[in-house]
Amino acid sequence: MLHDGGAGRLDGERRGIAEAEERLPLRVARFEQAPLGGVGTPQKPFGFYDATVDGGWEVPGEPYVRASQDDAGRFEWWRARMLGGRTNHWGRISLRNGPYDFKPHSRDGLGFDWPITYDDVAPYYNKVEMLIGIYGASDGLENTPNSPSGCLLPPPAPLVSDLLIQQRAARLGIPIVAVHRAVLTQQLDFRRSPALLHPGNLKAQKIIAADMQRRAACFWATPCGRGCSIRANYQSTTVHLPPALATGNLHILTDAMVREVRLHQNGHAQGVTFIDKTNGSVHSVAARVVVLAASACETVRILLNSKSARFPQGLANTSGKVGRYLMDTVGSSLSGQIPLLESLPPQNEDGAGGEHVYAPWWLYQQQHAGKLDFARGYHIEMGGGKQMPGVGTMKGAEWLTGGSYGKKFKADARRYYGSFVGFAGRGEMIPNEQSYCEIDPTVTDKWGIPVLRFHWQWSQHETRQAAHMQKTFAEIIEAMGGRVKDGPTLDGAKAISPGGYIIHEVGGAIMGGSKESSVTNQWCQTWDVKNLFLSDGAVFASNADKNPTLTIMALAWRSADRILDLMRRKEL
Ligand SMILES: Cc1cc2nc3c(=O)[nH]c(=O)nc-3n(C[C@H](O)[C@H](O)[C@H](O)COP(=O)(O)OP(=O)(O)OC[C@H]3O[C@@H](n4cnc5c(N)ncnc54)[C@H](O)[C@@H]3O)c2cc1C
Ligand code: SF4
Repeated sequence: MLHDGGAGRLDGERRGIAEAEERLPLRVARFEQAPLGGVGTPQKPFGFYDATVDGGWEVPGEPYVRASQDDAGRFEWWRARMLGGRTNHWGRISLRNGPYDFKPHSRDGLGFDWPITYDDVAPYYNKVEMLIGIYGASDGLENTPNSPSGCLLPPPAPLVSDLLIQQRAARLGIPIVAVHRAVLTQQLDFRRSPALLHPGNLKAQKIIAADMQRRAACFWATPCGRGCSIRANYQSTTVHLPPALATGNLHILTDAMVREVRLHQNGHAQGVTFIDKTNGSVHSVAARVVVLAASACETVRILLNSKSARFPQGLANTSGKVGRYLMDTVGSSLSGQIPLLESLPPQNEDGAGGEHVYAPWWLYQQQHAGKLDFARGYHIEMGGGKQMPGVGTMKGAEWLTGGSYGKKFKADARRYYGSFVGFAGRGEMIPNEQSYCEIDPTVTDKWGIPVLRFHWQWSQHETRQAAHMQKTFAEIIEAMGGRVKDGPTLDGAKAISPGGYIIHEVGGAIMGGSKESSVTNQWCQTWDVKNLFLSDGAVFASNADKNPTLTIMALAWRSADRILDLMRRKEL
């Protein structure tokens, strides 16, 4: 957060940023420079990047308990133990929730409404888009909000495979439009945006203007998951921390594992107790306001582990809702091979390090008319093209090549490389009573901190949605004249990814309209402890098909403005 303060000199701000960057070294590397050539393993599905050392589905010495090992009842928890968290290597898809997404219960009677509307969050979506830089377009589609002019950067051109998908999906009534991703396609508007981002705060404006000038547009060549030396992609380590350090108001303490929030006898949070991971020693810091943003489940864990006479069931948990209504995204995928895309001339299709196009949910009207057998929708993310080949590029193509070797394999590789397309559905899960986490009574991590135990269950809404995804993807592939190797899997219970697998876990401390039914109010402020705020996905009252991070950031900014306001009024 940039605090208010006197105007600083621009040169000084630039120097501050440069010094901050020295402390946060930037790096970029090609796939072949990563261990195993960047190829994933079961433990490291996204490859061995420095960014994820000691992170992933399993963190050494930091277990969690799955109440069920079955695919249907399993929850997988992906953690990044590092500065900047998962924003170092996320997919950067940044979609706004639409108006329906904040009032789902009012529309179909399921789940919960948020205590806020789209209009409450829209100004913060605008600000986050302007600050971090997001490419995309405004297409005026239902429940897929347009961004005001000046918020989005131009989208990159579609790949050849995108164009073919777009043409053939249109025949099925599926719109393919520019996706929104947090990658700069041109320099940010450092002249206009700072005053809109921090009105009345000249120091913040100068720092942000200087920092925006130090970010360059993407040069379409390197894997974004390993970091971006020119800061074209958004990750909090390179985009938020340097300007925040340049204010002189930020002190970063790394290797500090928070165990609990301490409560003053007056009922206010007085700070946190943490373990220095380098030597295991225990320390405390005091604070006027405590903001937890450790990722949805870890924030829940800290709350549940913060027990006191006043809160024997965990801090801010008089509702008994801490840990409840855990949600992930419904995920299912299918890929196909498209003869029309075979033997195309070699070209660089590395692109912006991720999708250029996607399909927003397009069946609101059919669903409203009762023509679908599930509630809520999904969007489709898609991939294809001729990115820089790497180790394992032709892995799994034996069904086409017959396992060829030597010259024949080279000819096969030239023929088939770039002719594959993949579709991944990302759909809304409705919160339910069976999906939650709690503290395991016996297991602790290597610091002695009790760990989470997860319970999980999909409802038929989600499994039927996954089956619908499979059917749709197969139809698109067929409309492209392509073929599917395995599938589609029309049994939704088999087609759906396990809980947590899409790494969009939210909920666990939901916001709501009353302290009986929720953990925080609309400002992410806990009902029970006035100076305790939650700034991650824990507060989500529903999990729209839209990927959650843009909304996490917009809510965090809204909450930060509220905290400043309350502090100025001496109410905190
Ligand atoms: C491969 C991948 C792809 C993804 N793609 C997308 C996408 O395209 N779009 C999208 O919207 N989302 C995506 N996500 C999800 C996205 O990364 C998360 O929603 C987002 O990072 C959540 O932010 P957060 O700050 O709540 O949590 P995190 O990013 O997990 O950050 C939590 C931070 O808290 C720290 N921490 C944890 N516990 C403690 C503790 N006890 N004490 C002190 N510090 C602690 C961690 O070290 C970390 O720095 C993706 C995630 C992954 C892994
Ligand atoms: S593809 Fe673009 S955004 Fe990604 S790391 Fe390379 S330059 Fe940065």
